[in-house]
Amino acid sequence: MPDKPLTVAYFTMEIGLTSSMPTFAGGLGILAADIMRSCADLAVPAACITVCWQHGYLHQHIHADGTQEYENTPWDPASVLKRLPETVKVSLEGREVTVGAWLYEIVSNGHTVPVYFLDTNLQENTPEDREITSFLYGGDLAMRIRQEAVLGIGGVRMLRALKYGEIGTYHMNEGHAAFLTLELLKEREYSDGNVRKSCAFTTHTPVKAGHDVFDYGLASRVLGDAIPWHIKKIAGEDALSMTHLAMHLSRYTCAVSRIHGQVSRRMFPGESIDAITNGVHHTTWTCPSMQSLFDRYASGWRNDPSVLERTCREFPDDDLWEAHQEAKKALLAYVNERTDQTFDVDTLTIASARRVVPYKRPELLYTNLERLKEVCGGRVQIIHSGNAHPSDPFSQEVIQRMVQRSRTLHDFVKIHYIENYNPDLAKLLVAGTDVWLNTPTRLHEASGTSGMKACVNGVLNLSTLDGWWIEGYGRDPEAGWRIGPLAEALGDAEEDRKVDAEDFYTQLQYEVIPEYYYQERRRWIRRMKRAVGLMGYFNTHRCVHEYLRKAWTPS
Ligand SMILES: *Cc1c(COP(=O)(O)O)cnc(C)c1O
Repeated sequence: MPDKPLTVAYFTMEIGLTSSMPTFAGGLGILAADIMRSCADLAVPAACITVCWQHGYLHQHIHADGTQEYENTPWDPASVLKRLPETVKVSLEGREVTVGAWLYEIVSNGHTVPVYFLDTNLQENTPEDREITSFLYGGDLAMRIRQEAVLGIGGVRMLRALKYGEIGTYHMNEGHAAFLTLELLKEREYSDGNVRKSCAFTTHTPVKAGHDVFDYGLASRVLGDAIPWHIKKIAGEDALSMTHLAMHLSRYTCAVSRIHGQVSRRMFPGESIDAITNGVHHTTWTCPSMQSLFDRYASGWRNDPSVLERTCREFPDDDLWEAHQEAKKALLAYVNERTDQTFDVDTLTIASARRVVPYKRPELLYTNLERLKEVCGGRVQIIHSGNAHPSDPFSQEVIQRMVQRSRTLHDFVKIHYIENYNPDLAKLLVAGTDVWLNTPTRLHEASGTSGMKACVNGVLNLSTLDGWWIEGYGRDPEAGWRIGPLAEALGDAEEDRKVDAEDFYTQLQYEVIPEYYYQERRRWIRRMKRAVGLMGYFNTHRCVHEYLRKAWTPS
């Protein structure tokens, strides 16, 4: 390859390009894939550096009693990716570990964004070192350091081996990639300023405990002299914080929504943290029937999704409704194949699907079962999906309870929990439901992107005001509904929970259900158009333009 310059080398621990490549765990990887797709569409000279995880996203099977099994998704990188001849070495615990790479190409309109999957599962390595790229987020802290060294240090060396020329910005998608700065320091005579001018960083984690922090003794043992003498000045006095390292060696740091920017600035006082609100890749997440509607009435939307904002009000009501009903039928057919209940296309459908973790409060809607029965009484059907972590028994019990409730509440509201949430299933869900429900604890959802995927399909969000929905609802309150007060009005966690649950029932009873069944359909359809309109903003083309302007323009 000749001396090819890059605007951005985008480093990410995970990427979720397809359901068949389980090299991701959740939203972070899905976002990385969407941003890279937009780079390809917009012909941005970009390359992505990630890791070829043997085991990332797990396959979930749910038994009739609600207990679950999680299995590794078997996949063969050689069947999807191209093995590259280049290898590099990274020194770990004094051993020279060989790192290879696989190539995946995202091609759009003749422009290619290469995605390099780094891999230590090579003959040259010891059996232990071959395991470094086995389990995404698996293993102990020493393993995590090895993995992050392969990504950061190995990644920079791989770019050199691939003979890339000038690289405008090394982008760290979350702190996992921050060791890339150590390699750049070594290349640039340990000048912080020289490294800082080439780096940018996105933080994704609004909770302190979610940030990687390593003991200096351990880090030195694993990384040896890759750790520079002044590490404590740049990565923290007490321990090596990947977030501090990334922030202190970046000329630009951002959070992933405006509220997350505020939360991050509070969490890291004195740091300069901007915000670029996430988006989703519009053509990837729009269902086929909506795509064909947009092709007819929103000409140009594929190249420029902001067209949707200007054209959505002109969509003919019947066409929009028909396009939605088609997506709904596809989802309900999928559900009905998997349950002995019959979900029907004329019943208001609410879907709530995401990783099962406490802060997302997946059971909020079941806080008061009597109230739920009274409100829903035969007029609502609910679809859930989402994986728990295999070593998190509490979240697995949440799923079990939700499965069991589908039996006890059967006469009042149909509920089905679809097993094995993944991007393909997400596509069906975000397009085929009528309402997308999200109930995170305020200030805990950095952005969230599934609600944006719902919007582009004319599906209405019903969500607590957190992450992106503060901005979405703020731009157009007709595009859905909010649950509970604004993020600023924070009280005690249990108290908040009660208030939000009560407000959820109220919204459902007095807003959502009447609008769906008893008012003119035009009103609902008007909201659907407004939801599609939001996609003019919450797409990754806008994100990439914003990144180019704020993060990827070297100073
Ligand atoms: C979009 C998506 C996510 C992220 O959605 P959230 O809004 O953060 O819940 C996670 N997993 C899959 C499979 C997705 O498609």
